[in-house]
Amino acid sequence: MSDHLFYQTRQTRPFIERAEGIYLWDAAGQRYLDGASGAMVSNVGHSHPHVLARMSAQMQSATFAYRLHFQSDIVEQFAARLAKKAPKGLDKVFFVSGGSEAVETAIKLARQATLARGEPERFKIMSRLPSYHGSTLGAVAVTGTPPFAEPFAPMMQAMPKVRAPLHYLDGLDPEDPGTAAHYLKEIEEAILAESPESLLAFLVEPVGGASTGALVPPKGYMEGLRALCDKYGLLLIYDEVMTGGGRTGTYFAADQYDAVPDMIISAKGLGGGYMPLGAVISRNDLVDDVLDHGGFLHGFTNAAMPLAAAAGMGVLDVVEEEQLCDRATRIGGVLFDRLRDLQSAYPFIGDVRGKGLLLAFELMADGQSKQVLPKELNAHVKLVNIAYENGLIIYSRRTRNGTEGDHFMICPPLITTAAQTDELVALLDKSLGQFADLYLK
Ligand code: PLP
Repeated sequence: MSDHLFYQTRQTRPFIERAEGIYLWDAAGQRYLDGASGAMVSNVGHSHPHVLARMSAQMQSATFAYRLHFQSDIVEQFAARLAKKAPKGLDKVFFVSGGSEAVETAIKLARQATLARGEPERFKIMSRLPSYHGSTLGAVAVTGTPPFAEPFAPMMQAMPKVRAPLHYLDGLDPEDPGTAAHYLKEIEEAILAESPESLLAFLVEPVGGASTGALVPPKGYMEGLRALCDKYGLLLIYDEVMTGGGRTGTYFAADQYDAVPDMIISAKGLGGGYMPLGAVISRNDLVDDVLDHGGFLHGFTNAAMPLAAAAGMGVLDVVEEEQLCDRATRIGGVLFDRLRDLQSAYPFIGDVRGKGLLLAFELMADGQSKQVLPKELNAHVKLVNIAYENGLIIYSRRTRNGTEGDHFMICPPLITTAAQTDELVALLDKSLGQFADLYLK
């Protein structure tokens, strides 16, 4: 760690030398397979020549033009392409620089839209426990990871949380319609306990990210959630920061449900690691209402930057031209099966889950009893470090919501080939074996 730079902890890592495709090399020449796309960011891989060419071309004209001074063709074109990717009726795009900013944007847009509609009593955003929606204070308030919020509690308005549908831990079959009904009943009870007329929106990841370890909702859950939002007058906001950009097999995971949200939040894979980029794509009338009632009290200096739009356009070109949504489904299916094979070999893998190339496995003391590993073992750090030494990057979390568990995201870039999938699985297999020898004997 340098004398001047700091992150969350003092952990040190080697210096990056270069990155290409699904690999990164450190300054000592060690190669790493990017099995987590950074943090589910590098959907089209590193240094893709097409994205670099798009950015390079934009750099010759204007990298930055402040949005209050100029319109930008490339920003307009990018907004139009994103609107086409979103469900019908969501055509209005607001650009930002990342996921947390996008979450803030959606919250403030929802609030101003309800004020414009003459319902000032609606201000609470309901979200799930566990969940992660970002690091800025507004995003922390709606994040269902209590330790992240506790130090800041006096500075924030507490927002209501309801349990995520952790069907694996609860021993419920996600295909059984009764399972969704069970969790939807909990949501309805939570809505009623809060007094529904104070609720502004429900914020949800359509497939869970790092906080739940790629939780796929039980069948009918998203549709039931939409119905509950309609019944009680809440907006439904999908946080697709991690699921967007093709990762789950469709450009937005929203396409996989018969439940259209009122807003979609996107980031990570939108800029693909080429530029900081995020967006909110909103229902048209919400934006019109806000703009007709004094305007949106919101904005970030670097948002809607032409160079970021060029990067986003380049990434989107690659997703379309290389058919990466289909590939996420295809390669994701292969990888899922291979992870299931590892589960057979290592009984401490309690669950394998996810959609497309948003996959995860959960470690347990033993998969049958769903007994979690002791917290002191720090399995989520140890296995990541072993894999790292072996040249494989994976991403982990220990859930901190009362049902503690160590889970690991396996989310390589969407350009990953079948042969590279074999390589990833071999490195993971080796790492799991070493982890077991060292810590589970
Ligand atoms: N929402 C979700 C679902 C995320 O996974 C993240 C980041 O991991 C965020 C929001 C925050 O995004 P950012 O780190 O770009 O601010």
